[in-house]
Amino acid sequence: MASTLDDRELWDPTAQAVPRDELHRIAEAGLRAEWKRVWDIPILFYRDRFDAAGFGPDEMPPLDEIPRTTKDDLRRNEAELPPFGSHRSVGIDQAARIGVTTGTTGKPWMIFYSRADIDRMIEMQFQHTWRTELREGDRFAHSWPGGLYPSAVLGGRHLLQLGILEIPCGPPFSEAQAAEHVALWNLLGIDALMTTASQLQIYDRAATSIGLDLAEILDGCVLVFVEASCQFEGPRRRVEEAYGVRIHNLSGAAEIPGFVTSDCRYHTGLHAPGGNYRVQVCDPLTGREVADGQRGSLVMSIWGMDAFYLRYDLEDIVVASSGDCPCGQTGPRYTLIGRGADQATVAGKMILPLDVQLALDPLGGPEFVLSAGAHDTLRLRVETEGAGDEYRDAVSHALGVAVEVEPIAPGTLPRSTFKPRRIVAS
Ligand SMILES: [Zn+2]
Repeated sequence: MASTLDDRELWDPTAQAVPRDELHRIAEAGLRAEWKRVWDIPILFYRDRFDAAGFGPDEMPPLDEIPRTTKDDLRRNEAELPPFGSHRSVGIDQAARIGVTTGTTGKPWMIFYSRADIDRMIEMQFQHTWRTELREGDRFAHSWPGGLYPSAVLGGRHLLQLGILEIPCGPPFSEAQAAEHVALWNLLGIDALMTTASQLQIYDRAATSIGLDLAEILDGCVLVFVEASCQFEGPRRRVEEAYGVRIHNLSGAAEIPGFVTSDCRYHTGLHAPGGNYRVQVCDPLTGREVADGQRGSLVMSIWGMDAFYLRYDLEDIVVASSGDCPCGQTGPRYTLIGRGADQATVAGKMILPLDVQLALDPLGGPEFVLSAGAHDTLRLRVETEGAGDEYRDAVSHALGVAVEVEPIAPGTLPRSTFKPRRIVAS
């Protein structure tokens, strides 16, 4: 039986339901302290950058005027000053743990975590884990990479402390391995699974191949899911009904320590931990915050942690959520639309793979890729037995651009064992 304490909506209401204006004041004070650290430590990369923009240690300019930094800027800094650059506030000597991103773009990237930041990250994981309805005694399987992968850095300590049984399977690199995972879940009985959409497809096939039904194994489970389309009601309900699960969407940014976002049972956008992170949605060109409801680049500033990120542009395209969430958590929320690098421009319009995916979803969600770059016509390859006219018409109608569909045989497009990439060079 769940106790009253187990029924509470937020893990820590005193930290998560801070009134907006108070949260704003906390953020302002926190960010001013970060600003001073640039000169106090000093963090030479940022000091030189802010000095060059005409700013000094005594007064922090309005956030929108602070130059943004991208991962490419940090990579250049490391190329000039190998091996770790001059941008880090936590160096190898202060590191209690390290993580390395596999990255969907570019080369591997190293992250150093201080001991104090690890403790703060565990607290953020408590908030997120609670939000996704995992409770003491639950059996929680997941298909995340281990080893050096950043999400492995906590070593499951937060789950141990919450009394949740972790079943860390790792990604299903082959169908045989996927079948082993499914058989294990069937044997143990699980309450929650964290996986990506492409992994779920692999598991579904693997289960069938050994005479099991994945929907039966997952029935009643929480599915902590990495699949941007499931932030939207139609696709989410389709997956929830197919497997008998309750979905909580998951996102984050591996290179920013502790930055984990997930939606609550009200699905009003991904909740970011408000106590240490200021989230801005900015025009990718000017760096200024866009109007409510507009798409923009996710720009992060964090305070109160040893790691330093001020106006860090993740180059993810997001839309901020407005209004209060019934769960009571204040702080930023947003919907993730895709990677800025993954956009195609069609007749002057920015189009991301998710736009196409959502348009195709009511037609059964066939696998597809779109051509990157700027074109007059949106070029798609779609897996279909037919000519693909219905897909062409649906996408054209939804996005308001001309569409060309090249039909290809089902099963032709590469399947990812972690996250799919649905855009190719034209
Ligand atoms: Zn909520």
